Amino acid sequence: MSKKKRRIVVKVGTSTITNELGNSKLRTMEELALAISDLQNMGNEVVLVSSGAIAVGANKMRLGEKPREMRMKQAAAAVGQCENMFLYDKFFGYYDKTVAQILLNAEDIRQEEKKENLTNTFEALLENKIIPIVNENDSVSYTEIESEDKLFGDNDMLSAVVAVLCRADMLIILSDIDGFYDKDPRFYKDAKLISRVEEIDDSLYELAGGAGSRRGTGGMRTKLQAAELATSQGINTLVVNGSKLSALYSLMNGGKEGTLFVAKHN
Ligand code: ADP
Repeated sequence: MSKKKRRIVVKVGTSTITNELGNSKLRTMEELALAISDLQNMGNEVVLVSSGAIAVGANKMRLGEKPREMRMKQAAAAVGQCENMFLYDKFFGYYDKTVAQILLNAEDIRQEEKKENLTNTFEALLENKIIPIVNENDSVSYTEIESEDKLFGDNDMLSAVVAVLCRADMLIILSDIDGFYDKDPRFYKDAKLISRVEEIDDSLYELAGGAGSRRGTGGMRTKLQAAELATSQGINTLVVNGSKLSALYSLMNGGKEGTLFVAKHN
């Protein structure tokens, strides 16, 4: 990949920014803020899509375990979103960056007028070198919390929708794993990383298995759906390991990391 300035959407999942106790992984969040600030300093425009509100909120509310009841999940999302934005604001602030919160639900994308407003908001923020931090509005909608089939399903799909909306050049999905393998590495020790995918078809979905880690929600399946949408709109999509943020620097310098789903050029 060349060094030209790009518009990049970076998605980070719950399992990357929280630990098994539901506490925030402060070091990862700080490193993420540093890497994204550097990407911006190189002249790129960056949008961050971040999950993790419910896990962080449940922990802060001392619920003991992830809430099951919808109203408690939505309450936890409200508490956790606030905490996440506080941490991001602080960490990005170290590097003199301004962040903005955008909370979306499916309706905001379906209605043409709202969609246009949203596009304009993203443009205005990016023009002013602000880093938009996007999440699904879990306290109002319930697509991520409840359903697998609705528009966003989880934030993987949200990140692809945002990438299309912002006409991004690249979507980078940070996961708890190095990329897309020929089988689930949790169960198969001999699983091999697939570094480049030109065509996302049914046979690929079969390799993805079910939902992933306990704290993450989507597994590889929703990452494939996100990659399918983004690549169909001409956006290169990468799945890389969120615990190795040096990969972001390597990618900017033309390195090959994780799995690249190659954009279609219609
Ligand atoms: P995140 O929270 O980072 O979005 P998820 O836990 O939702 O991550 O999804 C990643 C998980 O998907 C991996 O840890 C892995 O166990 C599982 N998985 C299933 N099939 C595959 C595959 N073919 N390649 C890589 N990971 C897979």
